[in-house]
Amino acid sequence: MHERETCIDCGDRSPETNEDHTLTSSMGWRLTRERRPNGQVCAVWRCKGCWEKHKAQATAARATVRPGVAVRRSG
Ligand SMILES: [Zn+2]
Repeated sequence: MHERETCIDCGDRSPETNEDHTLTSSMGWRLTRERRPNGQVCAVWRCKGCWEKHKAQATAARATVRPGVAVRRSG
């Protein structure tokens, strides 16, 4: 029996599907790994709408990062 997933942002329950693949490819849900403030990494699901918002925010956040501050390599 497949467990239904819960959207981390809006708390919506995923539709019942046979596989995660259907959920992601057909329903637009996305599974990501996120680091909590306590350093713990956990897998979280987002529904289609929340994923779009999350993606837009992540893109905006990345755009504010100045280029040229890359990791300094030694050697
Ligand atoms: Zn959602």
